[in-house]
Amino acid sequence: MNIILFGPPGSGKGTQAKRLVAERGWVQLSTGDMLRAARAAGTELGQRVSAIIDAGELVSDEIVIELIRERLPEAEAAGGAIFDGFPRTVAQAEALDTLLQERGSAVDTVVELKVVDEEIVQRLVKRAEDEGRADDTEEVIRNRLKVYYDQTAPLIPFFSAQGKLKEVDGMGSMDGVAAAIAAALDDK
Ligand code: AMP
Repeated sequence: MNIILFGPPGSGKGTQAKRLVAERGWVQLSTGDMLRAARAAGTELGQRVSAIIDAGELVSDEIVIELIRERLPEAEAAGGAIFDGFPRTVAQAEALDTLLQERGSAVDTVVELKVVDEEIVQRLVKRAEDEGRADDTEEVIRNRLKVYYDQTAPLIPFFSAQGKLKEVDGMGSMDGVAAAIAAALDDK
């Protein structure tokens, strides 16, 4: 099973991915987490992407595609991958389709978490207080939303044309959203 949790920053992708990991034993593949881990470890990659992350811009497609490629066998062995924060561009989505096809598999479902902008800004400002992420300042949050609408939202018609897109209201409680995601996945 390969599912994409899709939506703007702060729409709950990470939270819901972790629930699916706990409930279904699948593997969460979050490129944001991988990049932050590289930065924390002080690797050459981490140093290269640091300023880009802090500005709320996207790192290059090649970098994130390679990070995902390396982790696919692990997800396959677990019986499922939950892509979280990837793909973020049409080129990334096309590369993912190719990578999975080479392994005899495919994206099964894309769950789009729908949350209005003002709620997103509030959630991310709160996350900044709780976790102290450098890219959760209000100015960077607004840029990340702009980047989402400019570069990532065009994936919605892409997934829709593939017949894989399922919309889920991401505004409810964590449990309510989890139940709606489960219904979207099990309805397949
Ligand atoms: P996230 O935790 O998913 O919000 O990602 C944090 C930051 O990492 C983003 O603002 C980007 O700078 C970078 N990033 C994460 N995933 C990707 C991706 N798929 N493509 C490009 N940049 C990414």
